[in-house]
Amino acid sequence: MKKLLLPFILMLLTKAYAQTPPQIHQKAILIDTHNDILSNILITKQDVGKLQTTGNFDLVRAKQGGLDGQIFSIWCGEEYGKGTAYAFANREIDSLYALIARNPDKITLVHNSKELKKVVKQHKMAAMIGVEGGHMIEDRLDYIDSLAKRGMNYLTLTWNNSTSWATSARDEVTKKDSLKHLGLTDYGKRIVKHLNDLGVMVDVSHVGEQTFYDVIATSTKPVIASHSCAWSLDPNRRNMKDDQLKALAKNGGVICVNFYSGFVDSTYTPKVAAFLHQHRAELDSLTAIYHDGDLANIRLNAIYKSESDKIRPPLSLLIHHIDYIAKLIGVDHVGIGSDFDGAESYPLGLDSVSNYPKITEELLKLGYSEKDVDKILGGNVIRVFKANVGK
Ligand SMILES: [Zn+2]
Repeated sequence: MKKLLLPFILMLLTKAYAQTPPQIHQKAILIDTHNDILSNILITKQDVGKLQTTGNFDLVRAKQGGLDGQIFSIWCGEEYGKGTAYAFANREIDSLYALIARNPDKITLVHNSKELKKVVKQHKMAAMIGVEGGHMIEDRLDYIDSLAKRGMNYLTLTWNNSTSWATSARDEVTKKDSLKHLGLTDYGKRIVKHLNDLGVMVDVSHVGEQTFYDVIATSTKPVIASHSCAWSLDPNRRNMKDDQLKALAKNGGVICVNFYSGFVDSTYTPKVAAFLHQHRAELDSLTAIYHDGDLANIRLNAIYKSESDKIRPPLSLLIHHIDYIAKLIGVDHVGIGSDFDGAESYPLGLDSVSNYPKITEELLKLGYSEKDVDKILGGNVIRVFKANVGK
């Protein structure tokens, strides 16, 4: 009888003290390494300090979703170049500063992991800056210094467009024969070393495979892929192949999974092409209104929600990317980089920053421990951040 009683008491105690998935989620430090809301704000003039009915991000929903740290993407298209791109980047940083100034009790800019943890303890959001596209430094090291001073915490070496010193994933695939150089040039290597010296993380999302391997051979610090998925599950050029993932793990880096349906689900692209074809005229007029094709696409998907919902992948497919990467290279090398407000479609259930708890719930269901979930949600990114900054 006694033999049976002890396990029974232990079971009751475990149940009484076991934490629920929402409790585990709220306790963890969640950091999302890629959000594009700042680019949209410049056009829409939304105040994301208040609850919004459009888009994926605002400070109210972020609180509900347990989002503790956000790396805000600073981005401009390839039509910006010498004399314009750096200025545009600074305008976007100004808009983040303005958001922070309006909401000092909710959000603070942080420069290292120590400050980040302090701000999280104060129940505020830690804001960080990721500059998405090497074209914004206009080939100048002093512009890197200025951006770092303003809070740049990673530089994505290229966006879809190559720079004079690094080739992008798009160009390495589509313009392979006409490229002036392939991978990182000597100046590109100098830039990587300069970022290492400044404590700015090198972001390898968007870069071509050759650039990626050149970065791995050059960087003395762990690197980040701020918003990419696993190529083996969706062979899109923006995703990372198994060998790249293994090299990233060896470097001590982290890949933060992108929620965009097109990078999660290999069947999405033809489906969305048919949807866009169906609504071409309306997409054209929305593009004329916003002067921005991506934002027009986002709005079109919202207008025809019931239709666009039908082509969204299930949440399980995104979780599969996390699980695949964790099993291939270890749970220490995967994180969250939603790309919210930068794409028109995400897996079902992920409508905004309020929905992150669903990811925690699914990971726990798959048998991930609380410790593992902590690493995936933010622990790994904090480790890489600290290794770069030095504190
Ligand atoms: Zn991107």
